[in-house]
Amino acid sequence: MAERKYVYFFAQGQAEGDANMKELLGGKGANLAEMCRLNLPVPPGFTITTEVCTYYYANGKKYPQGLKSQVEEALRRTEQLMGSRFGDPDNPLLVSVRSGARSSMPGMMETVLNIGLTSRTIRGLIAKTQNERFAYDAYRRLIMMYADVVMEKAAGIEPKEGEGVREQLEHEMDKLKKKRGVKLDTELTADDLKRLVDIFKKKVEQVLGKPFPDDPMEQLWGGIGAVFQSWTGKRAVSYRRIEGIPDDWGTAVNVQSMVFGNMGDRSATGVAFTRNPATGENVFYGEWLVNAQGEDVVAGIRTPYPLNKAAKNEDNRHLPSLEEMMPELYAQLVDIRNTLEKHYRDMQDIEFTIQEGRLWMLQTRVGKRNGQAAVRMAVDMCIEGLIDKKEAIMRVKPSQLDELLHPMVDPIKERHAEVLAVGLPAGPGGATGQIVFTADEAERLGKQKQRVILVRTETSPEDVHGMHAAEAILTSKGGMTSHAALVARGWGKCCIVGCGALEIDAINKKMTVNGKVFKEGDWLTLNGTTGRVYAGQLPLVKPDLERNEAYLQLMQWADEIRTLGVRTNADRPADAAQARAFGAEGIGLCRTEHMFFDPKRILAMRQMILADNESERRKALAKLLPYQKKDFLGILKTMEGLPVTIRLLDPPLHEFINLDKKQIKELADQLNVPATKIEARIASLHEANPMLGHRGCRLGIAYPEITEMQARAIFEAAAELTKQGVKVYPEVMVPLVGTLKEFLHQEKIIRQVADEVMAKYQVTFRYLVGTMIEIPRACLTADEIARSAEFFSFGTNDLTQTTFGFSRDDVGAILASYLSQGILPDDPFQTLDQTGVGQLVEMGVQKGRSVRPDLKIGICGEHGGDPASIEFCHRVGLDYVSCSPFRVPIARLAAARAAIRYGAGRRAK
Ligand code: PEP
Ligand code: MG
Repeated sequence: MAERKYVYFFAQGQAEGDANMKELLGGKGANLAEMCRLNLPVPPGFTITTEVCTYYYANGKKYPQGLKSQVEEALRRTEQLMGSRFGDPDNPLLVSVRSGARSSMPGMMETVLNIGLTSRTIRGLIAKTQNERFAYDAYRRLIMMYADVVMEKAAGIEPKEGEGVREQLEHEMDKLKKKRGVKLDTELTADDLKRLVDIFKKKVEQVLGKPFPDDPMEQLWGGIGAVFQSWTGKRAVSYRRIEGIPDDWGTAVNVQSMVFGNMGDRSATGVAFTRNPATGENVFYGEWLVNAQGEDVVAGIRTPYPLNKAAKNEDNRHLPSLEEMMPELYAQLVDIRNTLEKHYRDMQDIEFTIQEGRLWMLQTRVGKRNGQAAVRMAVDMCIEGLIDKKEAIMRVKPSQLDELLHPMVDPIKERHAEVLAVGLPAGPGGATGQIVFTADEAERLGKQKQRVILVRTETSPEDVHGMHAAEAILTSKGGMTSHAALVARGWGKCCIVGCGALEIDAINKKMTVNGKVFKEGDWLTLNGTTGRVYAGQLPLVKPDLERNEAYLQLMQWADEIRTLGVRTNADRPADAAQARAFGAEGIGLCRTEHMFFDPKRILAMRQMILADNESERRKALAKLLPYQKKDFLGILKTMEGLPVTIRLLDPPLHEFINLDKKQIKELADQLNVPATKIEARIASLHEANPMLGHRGCRLGIAYPEITEMQARAIFEAAAELTKQGVKVYPEVMVPLVGTLKEFLHQEKIIRQVADEVMAKYQVTFRYLVGTMIEIPRACLTADEIARSAEFFSFGTNDLTQTTFGFSRDDVGAILASYLSQGILPDDPFQTLDQTGVGQLVEMGVQKGRSVRPDLKIGICGEHGGDPASIEFCHRVGLDYVSCSPFRVPIARLAAARAAIRYGAGRRAK
């Protein structure tokens, strides 16, 4: 039987692997092979496959048979091409040993450079380079790296803080510099470094009880073993957890001939992006350093030089560019840039080294980019003919659009800022402001144009005025569908919820976070996209969407391709207008309860709730009618020509009379009733589980006059607008239906009012009556309900709550432990639980359409703005998703991506 192939050789113009072999060769190895196939100058070497890593861990850290001879054979081929030999005292070959997993794990695993230097080969290196200083510098670097990576970390030694071998060697080097009276490493002479090598060797033996190996082969296998060992190092393991990379993928090892960027003034090293990764502009962009090794560019010890004119900025303008200093090599690099872009059809992140006037490529990979750059590159590349429209759409992650829609915390400054606390990322974008602890204070300061952040344990409908005035909202409790999260998202406002580290003392106007005390007026910065909170003020960067041509173009392509409709959840004309500007094709959910918290209306609302009998209640409702009608006139007008789904009153009544003693007294005075009556009513409305209580259609059934008033307000607004020639398409939606009879009860009232209003106004208009599907029984009996309901809208917030039996307002603490222990993969209130809740949705769709094939079905829970859930909605045949205004563009893009991935859906043109 032929021996399994564990080692893949590569050199310019010849390679055994290619870019498609990432699983076996890792990203780095596969791309090195591909560059060789493109005949680019790559130092020869070989890749040991990820299978060896898997074998190593499955077999008590042993290597498979045959590996040794394959490595030796590949090393021989490398030697032949380089014209030098590994371990040759006269003409030694040196190699690097680097890790390379399937998907990049930057800085998580180990690297050893200059392997092959020993007390014998050092002479050869000096003779060959005629540069004793360089040779000893390489030698001391090898000893330090090797002792640290191979002899200490890979051996599982865990030294006390500050006592690691690397630190002890660094200390020796500092001692020598002090003795010599110099500051920089570069000021040490060849003799100094030669002494340092001796000092290092002694120190290594003293600290680790073993000598630094003087045998090149032992060094090589030590390096290879250390890379495999680092796959299960702490850093690598926790990175894999965060990124969801499976443990059994393993890493490959790349052994490659060393080339040196630090051999003098004709040598250099650099990193570059084939386009600007921050703006997306089609310009070559990068940094380099003359006479340096790769780690010097990234480590930030020396300020890197700009690669060319395009990379010059305030800080580096005075420094020479490669374009100016080495024009011929720069031209060669530009050619390589063009070759790589054409070949990979995507922006590449490359590393190169120039050794004594000769250019070598050390790495290429698809470059990371921010949202702005992702959009611009995708559109430019499509226009340039590198990719087609579909690929352009697939290149931009929907969540990346957030960066174009909201101000963001300046990413460069954020990188250096210390995170104070982390909560749930409920409303994306960045904000800075001064802390306030009450909604009233937020409103007062907001009117004075002060930027404030409203910090609360949680918010309630009574805080809405302050929430609106604040730049951002931060709460210590609550989940992704808590009041604060829903409201903030609706306005596109930055919001972080469930930030458990905050200990808020609203009475004394202070909070403590991890031992630090913050008072009212102190500054905070929030990154609502990641949930991170910072003390103090970080700068923000603002978007300019209307003039962002690349964005507009990409969205046009997305609209051509998608078949899923995109509506919005909005209950104010301004929000509806914003959503329409973002491309919303209607309103999928207008929550009417938010309309009653206005200070002018709340009194009538409370009067209605406190009423003893129907006629009292009707009197109070009559006061509310004109307000409601005005709301609907505004919304229907704003959405002229588009459907508007208006949901009847949903929340438990006690939310409207959640009053303290002082407020009860005030209300009693205003309504001219005894305070005891109000107290008694509050007590009678108390429910142990209000989320499962007297809410939704249960309210309209108990108090049909509420439904009647709301229907009248909707239809009178529709009638008036129709008379004015405005096209309106109202859709009345009944919440929390679980049985057909509940629906029929409400439908009868609604249709009766519609008939009355049409007769009164002498007009006709089209309207629909449908239902939310948001409790499991509605899914199970969807075929019955669909006999009467003209449309369904899945309320997946409540459906998730009732399917899991989680209270959506209190789930925060449970979720934190479930997510950290891997009991749930994601927050099910954020991304739809397709396995469980998803089955109910599918059942609802199938049963509903089994009796009414043209049943219009949408979703209006928070999942309607989540890209993974949108893909699910496309697959199960929904007609539209509805989401908060600032998620509309994200949903349009996600819907297009779903159509590309799964083919056109129901609404295909
Ligand atoms: C839902 O339950 O998904 C929904 C949209 O309604 P609300 O969040 O208002 O309960
Ligand atoms: Mg609901």
